[in-house]
Amino acid sequence: MDKKLEDLKVLIDSNTIQKRIEEVADSINSNYNKYEILNVICILKGAVMFYTELAKHLKMPVKMEFISLSSYGNSTHSSGKVKSLNLSLPTYENENILIVEDIIDTGLTLDFLIRFIKQNCRAKNVELAVLFDKKCARKYNIKPDYAAFDIDDKFIVGFGLDYQEYYRNLDFVGYFE
Ligand code: 5GP
Repeated sequence: MDKKLEDLKVLIDSNTIQKRIEEVADSINSNYNKYEILNVICILKGAVMFYTELAKHLKMPVKMEFISLSSYGNSTHSSGKVKSLNLSLPTYENENILIVEDIIDTGLTLDFLIRFIKQNCRAKNVELAVLFDKKCARKYNIKPDYAAFDIDDKFIVGFGLDYQEYYRNLDFVGYFE
């Protein structure tokens, strides 16, 4: 592997990430009826750490769903195409959906998924929570309802985000210079 752990610079430490996720959960809790079901959809694999941390702090009844989507492959740039590895969802008739994603970059992946959900699931409302918002890289008109951090256009790893499938397990987020 060409990118080594010792060359990784810390961008956001573990405590800062945890605290910010709790704040995002507080905002979500205050926007929903605490007795109404929230279907929380995790986009694998990158969102898994954010998803599990966020879910622990949600106060309403939560149903968990997992799907696999990818637009980066093994590269550090978007391929421009979304690969759907597992996209079968219930109808969610008249229920709320919260999509949880690691990072929004060009917006391609989420544009694809939100269209798919709106066409195929008869949900009452669809919202989006992301851990990172790379606003400067956006090519599709997608705005997250909740974004933990805004970041510059640099390739980051850790806390679910990978480089060639490595570094997802780190409890902080960093970048290679
Ligand atoms: P988009 O479809 O918005 O262009 O890209 C979203 C996906 O690209 C994310 O779910 C993530 O898998 C990948 N991605 C975008 N930026 C980064 C980054 O800085 N680091 C890593 N590891 N993945 C990224």
